Amino acid sequence: MNSPDRHLGCDRHEDGARVNDAVRYEADVLVLGGGPAGTWAALAAAAAGVSVVLADKGFCGSSGATASGGNNLWYLPDGPVRERSIRARQAQAGGLTDVTWMRRVLETTWEKVNLLAEWGYPFPLDRDATQLRASLQGPEYMRRMRRRVHRSGVRILDHHPAVELLVDGDGVVSGAAGIARQQGQRRWEVRAGAVVVATGGCALLSGGFGTNVDTGDGLLMAAEVGAELSGMEFSTAYALSPEWGVHTKGLMMQFATYYDESGTPLRLADGVPPRFAAAQLLAEGRRVLARLDKAPPHLRESMRNSQPNFFLPLEKAGVNVFSDMYPIRMVYEGTVRGTGGLRVVDHACATTAPGLFAAGDAATRELITGAISGGGSHNGAWAISSGTYAGRGAARFALPRRGAVAASLAPRGRVGIRPSGAVRPGLAPEVIDVAQQHVLPPQRTFVRTGEQLQASAAALQDAWQDAGRHLHGSGRDLLRSRQAAALLACARWITAAALARTETRGMHRRSDRPTADPSLAHRLLVGGLAEIRTRPDPVGPLLSDDSTEELAS
Ligand SMILES: Cc1cc2nc3c(=O)[nH]c(=O)nc-3n(C[C@H](O)[C@H](O)[C@H](O)COP(=O)(O)OP(=O)(O)OC[C@H]3O[C@@H](n4cnc5c(N)ncnc54)[C@H](O)[C@@H]3O)c2cc1C
Repeated sequence: MNSPDRHLGCDRHEDGARVNDAVRYEADVLVLGGGPAGTWAALAAAAAGVSVVLADKGFCGSSGATASGGNNLWYLPDGPVRERSIRARQAQAGGLTDVTWMRRVLETTWEKVNLLAEWGYPFPLDRDATQLRASLQGPEYMRRMRRRVHRSGVRILDHHPAVELLVDGDGVVSGAAGIARQQGQRRWEVRAGAVVVATGGCALLSGGFGTNVDTGDGLLMAAEVGAELSGMEFSTAYALSPEWGVHTKGLMMQFATYYDESGTPLRLADGVPPRFAAAQLLAEGRRVLARLDKAPPHLRESMRNSQPNFFLPLEKAGVNVFSDMYPIRMVYEGTVRGTGGLRVVDHACATTAPGLFAAGDAATRELITGAISGGGSHNGAWAISSGTYAGRGAARFALPRRGAVAASLAPRGRVGIRPSGAVRPGLAPEVIDVAQQHVLPPQRTFVRTGEQLQASAAALQDAWQDAGRHLHGSGRDLLRSRQAAALLACARWITAAALARTETRGMHRRSDRPTADPSLAHRLLVGGLAEIRTRPDPVGPLLSDDSTEELAS
């Protein structure tokens, strides 16, 4: 039963139309993922006058990396401060950025954060009663984004993970299908004129704060329709947490002194940040302790009030962080605070697959943050801006297709959903285990070697072939098996890209290739599923003149 209002927007029937066992919705634009990138995309598409459905794996507003924590933002006024920041980032970013993208992201972020202020976001005030707008509290930010999305007429499907994309006879992406987790795992389909993938990055189920929904599902789905990725070698982000915890917010750690297992403060070589020195030692398998003894006494109470969830697990364990040393560990954050993701080919964040757009951590952030982590401000700004561009771009793509999407669409999911051989029950945990073994350990990934990467590539390839034949789940297990396939695919792209970048650049460190190779000062594309391919991005980085001089000097 289709709604007569369909030409106006999505099917108005409360539960969508039932087709066989699936529930079917129609919209001009489908957004997958309801973090900051997905919600900004949905708002931009709705503002362009098209109908929008947003499907999230969890609950839009409380799911994902931002909702759990918050974001400091790359939010700077137009003028010299902005230009200085661009040049400073270019000088650190391994020569892979694009100044045009940096300028437009800064401009869009400025505009959108100011809009948040107009919507009543309660920014804190400084002594002069000026709002401090460069930082957002996750729960407050995402609660408001959800409300805004809802009020703009977007249909939100919570607990509706997508598991595969749908394409028409010409291979144009025309929707997605998934399961409704709170409705008996029933299949859903959304037919749409264009799709935005905003499903976050991939942290390989490391357990890091807010990242366990970020299993790379969107990257797998996009690769299944031919999209390419970029910068997957820049996926070595780790955060520090107590040895027994998963709290990885980094702000408080600026006040930490780090000690070796004998309680001696770490000796820091010139210019090496303390956090990096601690990570280096941990990656060698040594124990490291932290104590926040550099926190000024007058700030300690407000630190507790501003991030109570940082202190909670420590205080529960009887640790006074200001006076006691406590052991720490590294928690993998992969491409969430790293850089790699789907390659975007134009200013609308189109991917290399027609009808498919990418936003947030699902897209590469090399254009604005290059070879280094974008986790401290750039990624949050990128989520806002790329979401806006992708939503707008998808709306523009979808409008001429309104009412013209083919009646019959083909699902493109393969590994984990349509095995070529006999199903082997219980395979998903084994697949996840292999993917994790080859990527999560800091000993393997924080500093890489060609030899280890070769061994990983071979083992992961075998696991992929096995998964293609035997990995499958139905009902609740379908999501598990697709997540396992996505993690394995990400581990393979990460490994292939790290092998192909035979040098050290930014967060990609190779002990067998400890220096940068000038002939590799380009972005590196990776793609394919049965066989993985890598190639230089034909579009070169675009650095501002001053920065080129700085890099050369
Ligand atoms: C602890 C921590 C602190 C951080 N601090 C900062 C900071 O201060 N500044 C900064 O710039 N960046 C920071 N980052 C990074 C920043 O949070 C991310 O860049 C940002 O959240 C990206 O937004 P996103 O919408 O792309 O992804 P997310 O916020 O991760 O949202 C992804 C959404 O997609 C949904 N999803 C996943 N799979 C599917 C599927 N199959 N179907 C449907 N929906 C799906 C998820 O449920 C989730 O809602 C931090 C990250 C962490 C982990």
